Amino acid sequence: MIFAANFKTNHTRKSTREYLEVLTQKVVDSACKDAVYVFPPATALDRFETPIVIGAQNAYPTTNGAYTGEIGTEQLDEFGIKTILIGHSERREILHESQEIVAEKFAFFKERGFEIIYCIGEPLEVREQGDEAVIEYLLAQFEGIDTSYEKLIVAYEPIWAIGTGRSATVEEIASTHKALRQSVEKPLLYGGSAKPANIREIIGIDNVDGVLVGSASLDPESFFEMISA
Ligand code: PEP
Repeated sequence: MIFAANFKTNHTRKSTREYLEVLTQKVVDSACKDAVYVFPPATALDRFETPIVIGAQNAYPTTNGAYTGEIGTEQLDEFGIKTILIGHSERREILHESQEIVAEKFAFFKERGFEIIYCIGEPLEVREQGDEAVIEYLLAQFEGIDTSYEKLIVAYEPIWAIGTGRSATVEEIASTHKALRQSVEKPLLYGGSAKPANIREIIGIDNVDGVLVGSASLDPESFFEMISA
């Protein structure tokens, strides 16, 4: 199973280091065989002594240059970071990243051999139109994306379930992952209010290969409770 923690705009450089010390100890002591990823904010990226994969939540598709406020591969290379989240709904919705920009980022980081956790997800009004509309919406988010890329992991994150405390139902996750699996033969993560209380039922669903976790990952005890479930 894959367990990925997305800190978003939470944690500092200091608290990220403390978090990783705690989580690393637990992962090592438990001889954990799952793949564990942590995506801290850009200011907390660093080299860490840990088997946990550290990834970037975002970067601009450039090595360096005049892109005020952004980071490129030069800043990621400094810490040996080769994993990135692309297409998160918060970047699509709040930061207005179009499918074209998302696809451009994907192509850039793919070209440089990055492992990519590529996020897709539908808004509530699409979910309310039923399964067919959901799949059509999700497949459109693969436009311009090479779904055969060997280092691709897909995260299905219904927007209405992110940070709301309301996870998708087992039936919704099962039917969506089953349909996605027919188009994309890559690991499929579920994300959206996954937490210790529902992790067992989520990872027990067919075609779910792991979870991408926001809120419940911010505390290493809570995140490890999910990993050890
Ligand atoms: C996310 O934004 O990737 C996410 C899954 O958030 P949460 O777990 O808080 O719903």
